[in-house]
Amino acid sequence: MTDSDSAEAPGQVAVLLPLPLAGAYDYLVPPGLQVAAGDVVVVPFGKTTSLGVAWGPGTGAVAAEKLRPVAGKVECPPLPEETRRFVDKVADYTVSPPGAVARMCFSVSAALQPPSPRIAYRRGPKTPERLTPSRRRVLEIAGEGPVRTMADLAESAGVGTGVIRGLIDAGGLEAVLLPPYDPPARPDWQRAGPVLNQDQVTAAAALRAAVEAGTYSTRVLEGVTGAGKTEVYFEAIAACLAAGKQALVLLPEIALSAQWLSRFEARFGARPMEWHSDLKPFERRRNWRQIVSGEAFVVVGARSALFLPFTGLGLIVVDEEHDGSYKQDDGIRYQARDMAVLRGALGGFPVILSSATPSLETRANVQRGRYSRVVLANRHGSAVLPQMRAVDLRRDPPPRGRWLSPVLTAAVQETLERKEQALLFLNRRGYAPLTLCGACGHRLQCPNCSTWLVEHRLAGRLRCHHCGYEARLPTECPACGAEGRLKPCGPGIERLVEEATGLFPDARIAAFASDLLTGPRQAQAMVEKVLAGEVDLLIGTQILAKGHHFPMLTLVGVVDADLGLGGGDLRAAERTYQLLSQVAGRAGRAEHEGRVLLQTYAPEAPVLRALVSGDVESFIESELEARAQAGMPPYGRLAALIVSGSDLERVVETGKALARSAPQGAEIEVWGPAAAPLSLLRGRHRQRLLVKADRGVRLGEVLRAWVGGIRTRGNTRIDIDVDPYSFL
Ligand code: ADP
Ligand code: ZN
Repeated sequence: MTDSDSAEAPGQVAVLLPLPLAGAYDYLVPPGLQVAAGDVVVVPFGKTTSLGVAWGPGTGAVAAEKLRPVAGKVECPPLPEETRRFVDKVADYTVSPPGAVARMCFSVSAALQPPSPRIAYRRGPKTPERLTPSRRRVLEIAGEGPVRTMADLAESAGVGTGVIRGLIDAGGLEAVLLPPYDPPARPDWQRAGPVLNQDQVTAAAALRAAVEAGTYSTRVLEGVTGAGKTEVYFEAIAACLAAGKQALVLLPEIALSAQWLSRFEARFGARPMEWHSDLKPFERRRNWRQIVSGEAFVVVGARSALFLPFTGLGLIVVDEEHDGSYKQDDGIRYQARDMAVLRGALGGFPVILSSATPSLETRANVQRGRYSRVVLANRHGSAVLPQMRAVDLRRDPPPRGRWLSPVLTAAVQETLERKEQALLFLNRRGYAPLTLCGACGHRLQCPNCSTWLVEHRLAGRLRCHHCGYEARLPTECPACGAEGRLKPCGPGIERLVEEATGLFPDARIAAFASDLLTGPRQAQAMVEKVLAGEVDLLIGTQILAKGHHFPMLTLVGVVDADLGLGGGDLRAAERTYQLLSQVAGRAGRAEHEGRVLLQTYAPEAPVLRALVSGDVESFIESELEARAQAGMPPYGRLAALIVSGSDLERVVETGKALARSAPQGAEIEVWGPAAAPLSLLRGRHRQRLLVKADRGVRLGEVLRAWVGGIRTRGNTRIDIDVDPYSFL
């Protein structure tokens, strides 16, 4: 059915409510009302009413006499057909209620109310008899240039709004209606970009061709950090704009992407439209409206931008496609990179996955011939990749109670003496990850979760990084009452700042972590300080690993290269390789050569050996090989079932019931239930089951049938995580 069709079942329409229900419900279309698929409607629901989207013809599942009528239509652009099909497919793949997925398309409920037009004023037909100097100034200003709002006129003329009102009454000014929003700035795709090098020209041509073909394809743009991937995919965006289509760019950490935004503006002479959680309500409403109306040109956003109701999308770029933040781990559990590919296939347009370290999933899709690869082999210009060296902490340990080894300390010292910048990387927020009582050994734990509380000394708080619980650091042990015996164990970046301040008292040190930077503006200010040479030593978490380009940064010290390997999940080694390559890529991006020191207790770990030797390909090959052997993703499929609830007995019982009715077969295996590593989260007990299936298995159907047959009681819930990334 197309947008212009009305429902087939005469007088009936299926309406999808933005609620976690199984599907769309039939309603009657009252005489005189035209309802087409995609229209936003108001329908009775229970004792109240609800908004909903006309999803298609009535199913006829319920006798017409029992149906209730649609109450009315909302004046709002219809949800495009492509978006509706996308919602259905995502719901299907993630085993989620379609209404809950559809809700992500309307993440701004106020967007549904028609915006009110703005009133502006221009010179009216009459000239009032009484012309004070103030009135004269206003009329002069109103007579030239574009129309202005009352506040604007008053301010420009330096008068109160009373003067303006008087002029309106006297006919000296007349009102005109403006569209509710200013149109978005138009990026100029004809502007010349930088002169591309030969590799870049070839890559850009391949991407442009994909866009110009106007059909679905997925290209993997692969190239070391600093190779110019951004410049190259800007060419694809230019081609998309030239074709009159909209483009969407997904970034992992949009709120911290100030540098990306200025590069876009430098290339296209206009800012892109942003979509992320830091937008003001007014901006969200406006942007949403301009996307669904087709006015928006280029949207850059976090993963949720994928669900915006674009009407003329012609390209999606997923930058840093390997980044873990593309997987949403609560609510609708979806992998935005994979769903972007699905979106492209539905819309018939190309998708570009860009990364210096493509995920194994993406590499496997290249091997299968589903995606094609576009490679930039070298860094742009004279920049070379930094040398990596392991610092074996067994031979070269830091002093007691410290975290920086003498080798790393000396390297930082040297760098600072050369007036270059150094970066210490530790992917751990706060001061210390654990606080322990020296008298009784008690560990301070979150009351709602099975995790330790992290001390944040700057804020003077203990925090749970899982549920947000906070408390003051007590002076006595809550278990044995010993006074002054609580001591921090292990480092977070705040503790590292303390150590570095002691070691390098003259250095200007800046700390970067998501809880220390409050928003995009502050992040940009910090980045600018680094670029201006006002910072000598940067200390930060993974937010420093992404995208930034600091030409004077020549040393990267990874304080704990083993950190990511501890959890031992499926992707631990892969993630370590990606994260450390990315951090390393921050060093020596311009004419200064960079070096990277990796502090480790396990220099023989394959991933560290690969990074140090530079032989990443064989590491990837052996990872892929091991996954293939074990039938793990990307060669097999996984799904997790998480049973949770406040009543432990019921949770355990539900887990057992799931196990009893688990799907059987040679091509499917079920493990568990077992207590989850995070066995308590936000006051809910948790049990996990893990399903491993051959790639041919229709996993969604299997899961739906299986879980659908289990009754849960009280607040016990079963969450399904298809393609899980977190195993906690
Ligand atoms: P990547 O995304 O692959 O890490 P970038 O696109 O960020 O690489 O490019 C790295 C740096 O090199 C940026 O500062 C960019 O402006 C610069 N650069 C890349 N290609 C060119 C080019 N052809 N001409 C001028 N500068 C370039
Ligand atoms: Zn907690």
